[in-house]
Amino acid sequence: MAESKTSLPAELQAMMTEKPPVCNYEGSDYQTSFWEKGGRAYEDACEVVALKRLMPTQGQLLLELGAGAGRNTPRYSGFERIVLLDYSRTQLEQAQAALGKDDRYTYVTADAYRLPFVDGLFDAATMIRTLHHIADARQVLEQVRAVLQQNAVFILEFANKQNIKAILRYLLRKQSWNPFSPEPIEFAALNFDFHPATVRSWLQLANFTVERQLTVSHFRIGLLKRIVPVKLLVWLDSLAQLTGEAWQLSPSVFTRNRAVGASPMAAIGSFFKCPACGTPLADTPPKLVCSRCGQTYPVNDGIYEFRLDVLNPKA
Ligand SMILES: [Zn+2]
Repeated sequence: MAESKTSLPAELQAMMTEKPPVCNYEGSDYQTSFWEKGGRAYEDACEVVALKRLMPTQGQLLLELGAGAGRNTPRYSGFERIVLLDYSRTQLEQAQAALGKDDRYTYVTADAYRLPFVDGLFDAATMIRTLHHIADARQVLEQVRAVLQQNAVFILEFANKQNIKAILRYLLRKQSWNPFSPEPIEFAALNFDFHPATVRSWLQLANFTVERQLTVSHFRIGLLKRIVPVKLLVWLDSLAQLTGEAWQLSPSVFTRNRAVGASPMAAIGSFFKCPACGTPLADTPPKLVCSRCGQTYPVNDGIYEFRLDVLNPKA
C-alpha cells in the first residue's frame, strides 16, 4: 500500500498525515429541516430509484454507515439484521424512535476511522450522503473494506465536484475551483465534493471493484423543482441515472462495489472489537470491557457507545 500512496496528488497526501476532524450532527434537526421540510422530496425519491437498482434483494448483516435518523433504513428490507452507525447519538435516537427497538436493528455510535467490528463481519454495507463529510475518505474506505466479507457488496454515494452546475460556474468565472481536477473540494467546513475518478481509484486501492455507477439528482435545480411535478422529474432522473456508466456530471453519484481480495471470515459469535486496541469484545450490555486495554464501552438505552473521544474527553 505504501507504493500506491506515492501516486496520489500532493494535496491528498498532505490531508492524510493528520488525524482528520469528524463532522458531528449531534443535536441537529437535519432529518426535519433538510428532508421533511426542505423540499427534498425529489432527491429522496431519486435515491429510492438508485437504491432499488443497486441493493442486493436479500442478505444477512448490513452495515449502514452514517445512518443518521434512519431515513434509508426501511429500504434495506431484504436484510436480516442491520447495524446503524453514526457519529451522532441524537441522530440514532431519532432512528430508534422511528424504527423501534427491534432486535433486527443494532445502534452504534462510532467514528468511521475506527470501526468497532471484527474483520470480515458484514456481507453488505451502505454509505449514502456520508463521504461528503469525511476529510480522509481513503482511510474510511479501507476501514469499511476490512469489516466486509469477500464478495460483499458496498453501495457508496458521493457528492460529485464535476457536475454541470459547477462546470458552468467555473467556465463563467463565478467559481474559482476547478471541477475537473482530481482533489476533493472542501466548499464549506467538513463538506467535500469529490472527483469520480479519484473515488474510483480509492475504491480500487481499498480492494473493491466498481461494478455499477448511477448518476443521481440530475435536476436538482430550484426552478425545475418548482415548475415540474416531482413524479415527472423523478422519472426523467431514473432514465438519466443509466448514463452514469458512461459519464458522471450529476451532483450525486451512486456506485455498487464488490469486496475483492482475501478477507478473513469473522469467527462465529464474534462481532465487536475494541476500537482502541483491536481486541475482540464480548457483547455484554450494559457495558463491554476490553480484556486487553481495559477500555469500557457502555450501552445506554440500546445504543452502543464506541466514540473514544467522547468516552475519554481531554481534561
Ligand atoms: Zn482494547
